[in-house]
Amino acid sequence: LARLRARLARSNTAIGHALLGLLSRGSLDEEAWEEVEDTLIQADLGVQASTELVDRLRTRLKVDGSGRTDEDQVREWLREDLLELVGPDLDRRIASSRVGDRPAVILVVGVNGTGKTTTVGKLARVLVAEDRDVVLGAADTFRAAAADQLETWGGRVGVPTIRSEREGADPAAVAFDAVQAGAEMEADVVILDTAGRLHNKVGLMDELGKIKRVVEKKSPIDEVLLVLDATTGQNGMRQAEVFSQAVDVTGIVLTKLDGTAKGGIVVAVQRALGVPVKLVGLGEGPDDLAPFDPKAFVDAIVG
Ligand code: GDP
Repeated sequence: LARLRARLARSNTAIGHALLGLLSRGSLDEEAWEEVEDTLIQADLGVQASTELVDRLRTRLKVDGSGRTDEDQVREWLREDLLELVGPDLDRRIASSRVGDRPAVILVVGVNGTGKTTTVGKLARVLVAEDRDVVLGAADTFRAAAADQLETWGGRVGVPTIRSEREGADPAAVAFDAVQAGAEMEADVVILDTAGRLHNKVGLMDELGKIKRVVEKKSPIDEVLLVLDATTGQNGMRQAEVFSQAVDVTGIVLTKLDGTAKGGIVVAVQRALGVPVKLVGLGEGPDDLAPFDPKAFVDAIVG
């Protein structure tokens, strides 16, 4: 965890340095405040949240009245206000334990290339380390390679992968089979990987809708995790909205946070979808998935 924190810190302190640099250079004129706001927007915090944060800081300075900006004080204010925006009290737990006499079901959705399959593999690893019995379902049947990739993760982590050998098989049928297998094996949790070909928006939404309907004939879906690539900024935000129209997203996984200084997207996407970021991807390795910790995140930015 310390290693993951360090990695997060490296990409985020760029924002922190820029902000603190601006905020601590004595009295701030209108232009300086605009720079502060621009820095926040560049970090993908979103225009609305950036404006709010600047307004709060300005109010605090006004109340303070001294007209000076002491770096430690500004850092403390920034820490408090950012934390408030990130939502320190949101419930970020993942449904991963048996519900009554059935496994929990987690549906993982997102555009191809965002890190969906990798996330499913890493999540399985985390849950296995917590002694849970996991079953994976390869409901991305469009490319055989996708099921192969998931199966490789399953093998690595030591959990079964339910898949179809046939390319183009009905993804909903595979999802159903995986949930059924999970029930028979008395697993704790079934994690379903899905396809995400966004170029065919209607097709994608229909496919996800059908997976949902068919799975729900067998079991409720307890968690729908939307995987988003943190480096894709506003584009990623638009994708997120498309997915949230197709399925009721219950949590966001923000991947590739290790490769961007745009960590502000955490705030933007939570606001846009009204659901919390639950997990973050901080690298390509099997251990590079962590629960999202608001305080550690803010510390990484503010230092
Ligand atoms: P999918 O098409 O959405 O299933 O995406 P994949 O799981 O195949 O991942 C696409 C690429 O992103 C792979 O090269 C992964 O190793 C990489 N990737 C996934 N998560 C992360 C992350 O958190 N950080 C980094 N740097 N790379 C990641």
